[in-house]
Amino acid sequence: MYSYADLEGLLKPGKVRLNESMARHTTFRVGGRADALCLPETRYDLLEVIGWASLRGIPWLLIGNGSNVIFDDEGFRGIVIKIRGSNPANDTLWHLNKDHDLIHAGAGVSLARLAWFSAAYGMSGLEFGSGIPGVVGGSIRGNAGAHNCELSQSIESIELLIPPNTITTISAADVHFSYRHTDIDPNAIITGAVFRLIPEEPELIRDRITSFTEYRKQTQPSADQSAGCMFKNPSGDSAGRLIDLAGCKGWHVGGVKVSEQHANFLVNSGEANTADTHRLIDKVRDRVLIEMGIELELEVRILSPEVA
Ligand SMILES: Cc1cc2nc3c(=O)[nH]c(=O)nc-3n(C[C@H](O)[C@H](O)[C@H](O)COP(=O)(O)OP(=O)(O)OC[C@H]3O[C@@H](n4cnc5c(N)ncnc54)[C@H](O)[C@@H]3O)c2cc1C
Repeated sequence: MYSYADLEGLLKPGKVRLNESMARHTTFRVGGRADALCLPETRYDLLEVIGWASLRGIPWLLIGNGSNVIFDDEGFRGIVIKIRGSNPANDTLWHLNKDHDLIHAGAGVSLARLAWFSAAYGMSGLEFGSGIPGVVGGSIRGNAGAHNCELSQSIESIELLIPPNTITTISAADVHFSYRHTDIDPNAIITGAVFRLIPEEPELIRDRITSFTEYRKQTQPSADQSAGCMFKNPSGDSAGRLIDLAGCKGWHVGGVKVSEQHANFLVNSGEANTADTHRLIDKVRDRVLIEMGIELELEVRILSPEVA
């Protein structure tokens, strides 16, 4: 027998929360409670939590900033491990350092912080990430991208923890990156990465970040609660364009609505739940298939309450 309260002895005070609402930890703000949420600060913390869970056969899953995942209304039966932080101490999962043309970043560093940090040192290549609300680990997992750039173009190497206790570094050359996908071992935990960037005038890099931010404000419902683009763009086309042409803009089920500003964003009016989100996804997908003959594939990961 075990009690989730025993986890509290493994991490600093406040870093284990029992029966925690997952709506609070995702940008879409829906989802029920997880049995436990752990907020590890170091690789050692991670090893402790995973070791504890493995010994007891308890499922666990990882999130970064929760901007590409949606939890079930039933939440998650097991431990959610969230890797995100901002204190730049060297041994944390959110360290951030420059070394010549390289930037070393922990898995929990936000892409916005990474972009501005690189700009300050006159290092270009990560500006596109400034408006993506993810952190390094979650964003490498999905090879995040925008403005015709993606993370794979700047990654030199990736640090992994492969449960239960193997710590290793892989070269980016050994990873297959594709559109919003990598073939990194699905069981591996990304703990950090090294980026190789291109020297450029800081002012030019900052200008690029500012213009990307402005473009986003004009084209995306940035002020609304969403999980970003719900569907992947089919080859050579845009999911938003197809959903718009199929006449789905403004459709809603309960508190979930197809954004009027960008049809590939489903937004939460404040009353949304995951069941309604499923229903709206199905309606949109069916309509696009009937009207446009294209089957849309989800970009967002919708999590089941039982399996990691
Ligand atoms: C307003 C808005 C705009 C967006 N714009 C874009 C965009 O332009 N381009 C784009 O690509 N995406 C975009 N997104 C989607 C999302 O922000 C990105 O996919 C982001 O990279 C996800 O990072 P995250 O830290 O939130 O990951 P999460 O959503 O927390 O996790 C994503 C996946 O990664 C796994 N994971 C998390 N951490 C780790 C880790 N340390 N090791 C291994 N696996 C891990 C999780 O289990 C999950 O499967 C947008 C989202 C929003 C809300």
